[in-house]
Order: sequence, then C-alpha cells, then structure tokens
Amino acid sequence: MAEAPTPLPPGSSIGVLGGGQLGRMLSVAASRLGLRCHVFEPGAEPPAGDVAHRVTMASYDDEAALRAFAESVDVITYEFENVPATSLDLLGSLAPIRPGRTALAVSQDRLDEKAFIADLDIPVAPHVDLGSPDDLAAALAEHGPGIVKTRRLGYDGKGQVRVTPGGDLAEATAVLTGTPTIFEALVPFEREISVIVARSLTGQVVCFDPGENVHRDGILHTTTVPARIEGATADAAAAIAARIVDAFDYVGVMGVELFVAADGDLVVNEVAPRVHNSGHWTIEGCVVDQFQQHIRAIAGWSLGDGRRHSDAVMTNLIGDDVETWQVLAAEAGAGVHLYGKGVSRPGRKMGHVTRLV
Ligand code: AMP
Repeated sequence: MAEAPTPLPPGSSIGVLGGGQLGRMLSVAASRLGLRCHVFEPGAEPPAGDVAHRVTMASYDDEAALRAFAESVDVITYEFENVPATSLDLLGSLAPIRPGRTALAVSQDRLDEKAFIADLDIPVAPHVDLGSPDDLAAALAEHGPGIVKTRRLGYDGKGQVRVTPGGDLAEATAVLTGTPTIFEALVPFEREISVIVARSLTGQVVCFDPGENVHRDGILHTTTVPARIEGATADAAAAIAARIVDAFDYVGVMGVELFVAADGDLVVNEVAPRVHNSGHWTIEGCVVDQFQQHIRAIAGWSLGDGRRHSDAVMTNLIGDDVETWQVLAAEAGAGVHLYGKGVSRPGRKMGHVTRLV
C-alpha cells in the first residue's frame, strides 16, 4: 500500500487563483484550520482580499508575479476555472496544483466534458458539435428544441441561446459563427439537483446530500436540502459523482449538476472542478462545510463526514437583492453572507442567505 502523504501542517500557505466570493469563503475556511491563503487575482479590490492572509494583484500573464506567488505557497488551488493553460504550466512546475490540470482542462470545454462523462457510461444530454449553421439545422431536425452553448467560457446561462425547429435562428447563428459551440437537446427534467463531492489525496470520497436547485434567468436562485427525490435516486447521484472524481484522480471538492427525470433517471448537466454555489448551504447545514472539505482535501488532511445536521434553503442575493440586507439581518435565524462587492449590477452575485428549516 502507498504511504499516506504527510498533511500540510497548520501555518502552511494555500495559493488560491481567483479572488471572488468562493476564494473569500475558502480563505475563511482555511483560517479556521490554522492555514493561510494567498490569493492571486487580476481585478482590483477582490472580495477575498478582505479576509485572505495575502493578495497578489497581477495579471495571469505576469510571469514574475506568478513565479513569486507559486514560490510563496505550499499548494495551489483555484476558484476560477478559466486560468490560462500557460499560467498553469508555470505554476505547476513550482507547486502542486489541486485539483489537477486534467479536471480543469476537461471542464473548460463542454464538448470534452460531455465526452469524458459519457465514456464513463454516465448519461449526458444528447448533443452535437456545431461547425456551421447547416449543422444546427440538422441538429434541430434530429433532436427537436435545444440550446446552443459556447464550448468555452460559459457560466450562469451566459453564452447560451435557446433554439426551436422553425424558430428564428439569427441569434444562435451569430454566436456559432464567431466561436466553437455545441447544440444540446432540451432534457425534459422534473427537477435539477447537484452533488457536492470531495475526494482526498488518498482517494477517500465523501458526498454531501444532493441539493435541489432552482435557476432564474440561468442563474442559481435557491438550493433546497434535502432534494425532493427518492433515496435510491440520491444514492445513484452520489455514485455518479464518485465515479467522476475517481476517474479524474481528483483531489478537492467538485460540483456535479444533474437533471432528474420524472422516473428518477439522471443526466449529468455539467461539472465544476471547485467549490460550488449550490454547496453554500453546507456552511450552516453541516459540521464540516464544502469550503473546509476542499481545504482539507488539497492540504492532504482527512475529510469530514459530510453529514447534514439540518435541512436548509440557500437563496442567492443577486444584484439589487442585496439592498434587503437590513431586513435579512433582522431575521434572527437567517445565516447572512455578504461578499463585500462594492457595486451591485443585474445578475451579479452579491451574497446569499441560508435558512435552516
Ligand atoms: P448550464 O450553464 O449549462 O448549467 O445551463 C444553465 C441552466 O439552463 C441549467 O441549470 C438548466 O436549468 C438549463 N439547461 C441547460 N442545459 C439544458 C438542457 N440540455 N435541457 C434543459 N435545460 C437545460
């Protein structure tokens, strides 16, 4: 048997690529475990900067800054998936990157991601790689209504256009002409769930209970735990998540989003190789939350058990929703989280609130 790796001791430094709210909550979790976060972020006044031990504000092509950052930390992780490959090459030559490069590269491209998951005999939405408007017409004829999605850089419903046979395809055609896209057939789901799964350096896998997700305008609105699904469906979803992290030889937390059909059949929508918005409820709902679980995993520690001690509903505060902070603060049982972002814009995640039920 391979020797167990030595866990990073308290006082060690974790490099975090990206300084948004996920980096902020990772930094808080690390500090609770006696570890320090050094955040690398190109943008000014990153939300994680308020709580991280150190911040490097530099661009991802600033080689000297990347080098100094990597040399100052014991392990590197990311909350931002679109870190350029060349930056990762340099960073990876200087410090371990966890989760590893493969999961990041595969999940950056919807087509590669679907191929990876389908190769594990896990169902994904029927899809077609679009090279031209003719491919789109053929896809619509074969599969019926669907969504044109950019292969890369799409999130929160961005880079997506709904299409129907006989409908106006001008917007979709404009998108697919400029950038690589896929057509995805509409999956007739009854509900959407996600599994937040963690895998340790020694291959221990722990799942949080699936949350049921409701989106508004393509952005997560609420996550409710437990999801309204059969126990067998929850077990099947956890088993799928475990197979995916094992196949990647993954270290850290991953969010696996799934569609649930009326008969309980599961289709994987997408995976995120990082802590996930639909796992924020774990801060109030579990002894060891997703952020601690991620830090534990990448630091080579044992994982917590992931058990939920309370049912919970997490609601995102998007854009102007954050203006209600005084009302929320007056609600004694509400776990209020504000991300310290100065300016609210429509669609911008400004905070969230978790209520135990
Ligand atoms: P995505 O960015 O791919 O997660 O898509 C955002 C949201 O759009 C999902 O959470 C679903 O609500 C919806 N959606 C995306 N793809 C599909 C699909 N193939 N069938 C039905 N709904 C979808």
